[in-house]
Amino acid sequence: MTAAPRDVRQLLAEAAATLPGVEGRHEAELLLLHVLGRERSWLFAHATDLLDADAVAAFQALLARRQAGEPVAYLLGRRGFWTLDLAVSPATLIPRPETELLVELALDRLPVETAVDVADLGTGSGAIALALASERPQARITATDASAEALTVARRNAAANGVHNVVFVAGSWYAPLAGQRFALIASNPPYIASDDPHLLQGDLRHEPASALASGPDGLDDIRVIVAGAGAHLLPGGWLLIEHGWDQGDAIRALFEQAGFDRVSTVRDLEQRDRVTCGCLPGVV
Ligand code: GLN
Repeated sequence: MTAAPRDVRQLLAEAAATLPGVEGRHEAELLLLHVLGRERSWLFAHATDLLDADAVAAFQALLARRQAGEPVAYLLGRRGFWTLDLAVSPATLIPRPETELLVELALDRLPVETAVDVADLGTGSGAIALALASERPQARITATDASAEALTVARRNAAANGVHNVVFVAGSWYAPLAGQRFALIASNPPYIASDDPHLLQGDLRHEPASALASGPDGLDDIRVIVAGAGAHLLPGGWLLIEHGWDQGDAIRALFEQAGFDRVSTVRDLEQRDRVTCGCLPGVV
């Protein structure tokens, strides 16, 4: 049976009705524009265009995957972060808008003119390292990740965004950084408790578990990052870690036990604890 041809407007309305949530319409538009290779502005003048059968079939295939729960960013293969357009794959976490707070707090602590060394631990798609590098072209940034596949995506993102001041190295946390010290270390590590039921819901089901979950209380990796920071920061250097809304107290305690000064937790736009910062004592 052949369905009657439908124009762009009808296709989008039907598609949006099959996607749950307030984002349904927007997601349907993103998927259709992806299939057509068009920008959003194209929609305004083409609402009554009829699409060829191949385009409709390709759109419906993506729509079915979205209905089955695959994240839009993986279907498009991209996600915007900071000022950058980043490729993402199921080997990388999808960059979150909340992480832009970590970028802002790091930029507040990085000089514009001077060349300083910065590390991004667990870089995934490269989001944090590339945002910092693009804003501080003088900085020398080292980004680590234990996943070779993630590093391939991150390196591709550096090239595609014209960023040349990031070096990507393979290994877990500080493993590839022996003997190196930085003015600032930033990380958005996994911080969800391994038995958290959210891991089995929504988009999180499709993201790499190694980028999300970290032991019984979600703090296993953060403990390693805080404990190792003293050996990898310069005197006066900063450690900034993104974490869950209910982990601020525990993480400030870890920072203080490790001898950090000026320890504070900053809230995100939703007024939830999101990033803890601390400074290694010493002359800057
Ligand atoms: N640093 C990357 C990001 O913020 C990846 C984080 C992760 O995989 N936990 O998107």
